[in-house]
Amino acid sequence: MDSDEFRALLVARREEFVAAAGAHDATERELASARGDSTADDEHDPEGVTISAEWSQLAGLREAERRELEEIDAAFARLEAGTWGTCVDCGRRIPVGRLRVRPEAARCVEDAARAER
Ligand SMILES: [Zn+2]
Repeated sequence: MDSDEFRALLVARREEFVAAAGAHDATERELASARGDSTADDEHDPEGVTISAEWSQLAGLREAERRELEEIDAAFARLEAGTWGTCVDCGRRIPVGRLRVRPEAARCVEDAARAER
């Protein structure tokens, strides 16, 4: 597998997230108008509470998407710089199997686990 194939994987991955973000934009607009239609007093309006819950769930999803897109863009930058595929922490090659699943991965499995702690 050469870097062109991985570039294609990254492009596909980016499109996937852009599409998901677009779908969530639409949901956000729907929720915004549903919220506007309901009474101002959310606490005593059962539907208002549901909308608030959906809203915060959506906010979480969107935050995760935003981070994912940043990671993908960073991966493109590393691809341009010729450093893609090596761990940003230890400099070792990231296993191809991992890159197939997560082409935007910036770290080897060990360092990714460490970075999350
Ligand atoms: Zn590493």
